[in-house]
Amino acid sequence: MSSQSVALVTGASTGIGAVYADRLARRGYGLVLVARDAQRLGSLADALRAETGVPVEIIPVDLTLPEGLAVVEARIDQGDIGLVVNNAGMSLKGGMLENEPAALERIIALNVTAPTRLCAAAARAFLRRGEGAIINLSSVLALAPEMFEGVYSGTKAYLLNLSQALAAQLGPRGIYVQAVLPGATRTELWEKAGRSMDEFPPGFLMEAGAMVDAALVGFDRRETVTIPPLPDEAQYLALQQARLAMAPNLSRSEVAARYLR
Ligand code: NAP
Repeated sequence: MSSQSVALVTGASTGIGAVYADRLARRGYGLVLVARDAQRLGSLADALRAETGVPVEIIPVDLTLPEGLAVVEARIDQGDIGLVVNNAGMSLKGGMLENEPAALERIIALNVTAPTRLCAAAARAFLRRGEGAIINLSSVLALAPEMFEGVYSGTKAYLLNLSQALAAQLGPRGIYVQAVLPGATRTELWEKAGRSMDEFPPGFLMEAGAMVDAALVGFDRRETVTIPPLPDEAQYLALQQARLAMAPNLSRSEVAARYLR
């Protein structure tokens, strides 16, 4: 990191995003903090300025609104930001059958459209700078859709897929892309989705500080995919190897023999 680096963190007013803001400030990054709650952002910015001395801006906008997203894209386009953390996200109360179309559109706007547009803005700005990094907060549910309702896990699978594609395309051009896949983490996300954290069995829930510290170890190692709770890395590596081995066989002019009558 250069001493002039600035990190933009979405969803920084609480939870995982607020921990990223804290840890990045302590690493010397100047900060741009994005979320809707201006008061919470302002209090965090004051505390981080006082504790670390780094410059901290806030952008209080709703990332589900095109005008909110445009403000953040324009800020990234200014060219001084070297790290974008796409962290803002939400879950649903209930699944697809219990939610109205507006709620389904909202989760897709926040969890899919916003990080996609901010990845695009960051990639353009970083290619101009010749360097930069993007961290996308996916979820272990990207790998385990059967464990949860499909809309939330589907948005997180999208972000994993996008991150892997961007890592392949942009890595050789000096841009590092990391997908972070937390398991269940103690934040307000669960209560907002109508679930009590008391429902979880002992040993299931990770503290947000521990999750982010582990994810930053993966960041420093330049991992493309970081799964803080997974004890045996070989399990993920085997999945990755099997997937990549299958890739050359996925597009062919001939129909597979088992589908021939
Ligand atoms: P959280 O505590 O609910 O925090 C979500 C953050 O996103 C808040 O800062 C919130 O701020 C912001 N946000 C929500 N709606 C927004 C909007 N429309 N526009 C702008 N900002 C908005 O959630 P968290 O657990 O820290 O989640 C952070 C990320 O980690 C999410 O992408 C989540 O999917 C992912 N994740 C979480 C877990 C978990 O178990 N907690 C597990 C895997 C992945 P305002 O309300 O002020 O806007």
